[in-house]
Amino acid sequence: MDRAAGKNPPLLSKSRFIAGLQCPLRLWYQCYAPQLASDIRPAQQAIFDTGREVGHLATGRYPGGTLIEEDHLHHAEAVRSTTAAMGQSDTPAIYEAAFGFEGIRVRVDVLERSLSGRWNLVEVKSATAVRDVHLWDVAVQLHVLSGSGLSIDRAGLLHINTAYVHPGQAPVLAELFHFDDLTPLVFARQEDTHAQLGRLRQVLSEGQPPAIQPSRHCKHPHLCEFWDHCTDKMPEFWVLQLSGISQSRLDELSRLEISDIRDIPAGFPLTEIQDRIRTCVQTQTEYRSPNLARELGLLQHPIHFIDFETVGPAVPRYPGTRPYQSLPFQFSDHILRRDGSVDHREYLCREDKDPRTEFTRALLDALTADGSVVIYTTYEKKILRALANDLPEMREALHAAVDRTVDLHAMIKKHYYHPQFRGSFSLKSVLPALLPQMDYQDLAIQEGSQASVEYLRMIGPQTPAAEKEKIERDLLAYCGQDTLAMVRIREALLGS
Ligand code: SF4
Repeated sequence: MDRAAGKNPPLLSKSRFIAGLQCPLRLWYQCYAPQLASDIRPAQQAIFDTGREVGHLATGRYPGGTLIEEDHLHHAEAVRSTTAAMGQSDTPAIYEAAFGFEGIRVRVDVLERSLSGRWNLVEVKSATAVRDVHLWDVAVQLHVLSGSGLSIDRAGLLHINTAYVHPGQAPVLAELFHFDDLTPLVFARQEDTHAQLGRLRQVLSEGQPPAIQPSRHCKHPHLCEFWDHCTDKMPEFWVLQLSGISQSRLDELSRLEISDIRDIPAGFPLTEIQDRIRTCVQTQTEYRSPNLARELGLLQHPIHFIDFETVGPAVPRYPGTRPYQSLPFQFSDHILRRDGSVDHREYLCREDKDPRTEFTRALLDALTADGSVVIYTTYEKKILRALANDLPEMREALHAAVDRTVDLHAMIKKHYYHPQFRGSFSLKSVLPALLPQMDYQDLAIQEGSQASVEYLRMIGPQTPAAEKEKIERDLLAYCGQDTLAMVRIREALLGS
C-alpha cells in the first residue's frame, strides 16, 4: 500500500491527533486508506449520539453564546465566523469555535469570554471523569489557540457529574455537569504536544504505512476502527487470546517472533489459565476439571437461568435516577424443573417510564422462593443489589434472590476450556463452541449494548407502531436466547 506520490501531507485535526497518539498506523489509515475501516456498530453510533446530545445540552451552561454553524468542510468560513463573533464584545461564549494553526484544525466546544476579557477553553465530554486522553485533547486545542494569538485564562473539561440526581423537572445544568480545571496540566504538556505533532507529521510524510502490529493498544482509549482489517491475517490461535496476558509477556513473545499459541514453547512463563489455554490449543482437546460436574450438581431445582437487559442514559431520564445508572427494562428466566421440563417467564417494559418497580415485581414473581438462580457474570447480581437499595419494600426478597445466585461464567472459567473459545468466556464465544447449531447469527439484536439502543428507540415517540412491534419481538428473542443458551450449556457441560 502506498499513498499518492507528490501530494502534500493531509491536515491534522484534534481527532486525528488523538488517533495518532493511540497508533500512528491508525492515523495513516484515516488519512490515506479510510475505506479499510469497519462500519460503525450501533453501539458505537449510540456513543457518538450521546456525545452530541451532551455537547448540545452543555451549551446551556454558557447562555447567550453564538454557534458557529459552518461544518468541517467549510473550515475557512467557520474561522471567519469565529473571528467575527470574538469581535462582538457582548458575545459571552462561542460554541464550536474554529481555529487553524500550522496545518492543524480544531473546533472548540465552548470558548467562553473570561472576566479579564481573555478566553476560557471548555472541552465537553459525556465521560464521568478526566482521563489522560482528555488532557491531550485539551492540550492540542490550547496549542492551536495560543498559536492563533488567543490568551487563555482557563482550559478544562466539562463532564457528567455522577452524583447528580434527576430532580423531577428540567435538568439543572450547573449540577449535571462538573468542570475540571486542567490549566496547569495542559500548559505543562505544550512542549510534548509540539513534539508529538512533529512525530505524526513525519508519519504522514512517509509513502508507506508504519509497520505496527495490532495488540492491546488497539482498544485503548477506543476500539480502533481498523481492528478487523489489521487482525484479519492474524493466526487462528493468536497469542492475544491468552486470557489476561500482560504487555511484557506479549513483548517477550514478539521478540521470539511468536504470534501463534501453538508455537509457544513448553516452559514459557504463563499463568495457570494461560497454560491451560495453550495446552488445549496445542492438543486440540478440551479441559474439564473433575469439579465441574460436582459444582453443576449442586444447583437446586427448579433452576432459574436469568438474564437482564438494562439502559443507562448519560442524562438521567426519570426522577430520582442518576447519570449512567443501569435501569433494568427486561428479563428472561428459563426454568429447568427436576423432571427435565423447561418453562419460560419474561418481562419487557413497553412504556417510557422508570421500569424498576414493575420489573422487580415481575422478576420476584417468576423466581418464587425456590431453586438456584444462575447468572452469567456478576452483572445481574449487581443489578439485584442496586434494586434492593432503591426499592425498600422489596429489599428482603431481592437480597434473598442474590443469595441464590450462581455464576455460570465463573464456573466455566475455573473448570472448563474449549479451543474454540479463542480466549473468551463470554456467552457469545462459549455457546457456538459447545453448541455450534445454536448461535446468535439469525437474531436482529446480537449484543447487550445494541439491546439498550433498540429499547430507547422502541419507547421513543417518533418510532412508528409497526417498528415498535418489531423491536419488541427482537428484544424478546435476544434476551430469551441468552437464557436458553445457559440451559443448553449446562446440559452440554454435563454431557447430558
Ligand atoms: S487496529 Fe491497532 S494496529 Fe491497526 S491501526 Fe488500529 S490501533 Fe493501529
